[in-house]
Amino acid sequence: MTATPAAPAVRRTPDVLADGREIIYFDDTEPYVSGQASRATPDTRPLEPADPGHSQLRYDVLTGEWVTIASHRNTRTFMPPADECPLDPTGRGRVPSEIPAHDYDVVVFENRFPSFTTTAVGEPADIDGEPLFPVRPGIGRCEVVCFTSDHNASFADLTEEQAALVLEAWTDRTSELSHLPSVEQVFCFENRGAEIGVTLGHPHGQIYAYPFTTPRTALMLRSLATHKEATGGENLFDAVLESELAGGRVVLEGEHWLAFVPYAAHWPYEVHLYPKRRVPDLLGLDEEARTEFPKVYLELLRRFDRIFGEGEPPTPYIAAWHQAPFGALEDFEGVNRDDFALHLELFTIRRTSGKLKFLAGSESGMSVFINDVPPERAAERLREVAS
Ligand SMILES: [Zn+2]
Repeated sequence: MTATPAAPAVRRTPDVLADGREIIYFDDTEPYVSGQASRATPDTRPLEPADPGHSQLRYDVLTGEWVTIASHRNTRTFMPPADECPLDPTGRGRVPSEIPAHDYDVVVFENRFPSFTTTAVGEPADIDGEPLFPVRPGIGRCEVVCFTSDHNASFADLTEEQAALVLEAWTDRTSELSHLPSVEQVFCFENRGAEIGVTLGHPHGQIYAYPFTTPRTALMLRSLATHKEATGGENLFDAVLESELAGGRVVLEGEHWLAFVPYAAHWPYEVHLYPKRRVPDLLGLDEEARTEFPKVYLELLRRFDRIFGEGEPPTPYIAAWHQAPFGALEDFEGVNRDDFALHLELFTIRRTSGKLKFLAGSESGMSVFINDVPPERAAERLREVAS
């Protein structure tokens, strides 16, 4: 792959919405990037102060997992008409949206219907005086990332410059949120398509800052620890990457990134994208990897939309960044956060034209995935539909 221009100059403008939530504009276009114009725009909506948050974290003592109980989210906006999209810029004769400015490049703001908040209301240490059932307030933060002001675009439609700006925003948020009290893990992700349960059509993603290490990350850390111990120090991520590189499931290889369908893919079409130089999180990416990322990622997303052939509706997908937790790793003896490998997992729940993979009995009941598409065939298809 040929090199793309160096990372963009980015201007970051924090502001506050009418109900006190934070909004941050990320700009790489004029007249904003050089500061000749300001993005800061008053939010004139008569909003009540933001809900301090009433979500609860309840600990499942049998599985060792925290469950978030967030009943207030049932009132959230569901598929509004296009002229009332809350993620469009305000102006153009429409009702004010979540974004007071008349345009934006990339914008991030605190979710109005969060599962976690920094101001979560306190709870007793247990409910009904039962010490077996720990509970704590849902402290953390949930943010929305609007990838573009163009309502009808998808991430795959972005230019490399726009995708680079989203990467800058994800990196900035990972850094900022990691410094909040209680936050242990930062998760940047995109749900794309109504089939995934997306309630707004506008191209956007989300960021969750969790007050604990998530179960999947904990599993990976345990596997890392076991492998390190068993091999006298080998890094399991490095070993997997080396084996996948030599195997038949590579989908795309750049100078600094490697994408493959994993050996034991859970989903019909699933791709894991790793920087070749192992880093624990987005903050660790060097300039070369950051520069090449947009080209590689946009190509993967465009291939996803071609998997099922011409005339098919856009492929629903989930794109999930796995980053090392920021909390102490005392439960994972012998593992440092630098042992973790930042990577993105991209997968679709569509099996074939018009058919979805549901998380049914085996998956939902027992966490045993049944995948109808052999990973080797999925990889072959993802190579066939290259640009
Ligand atoms: Zn919109």
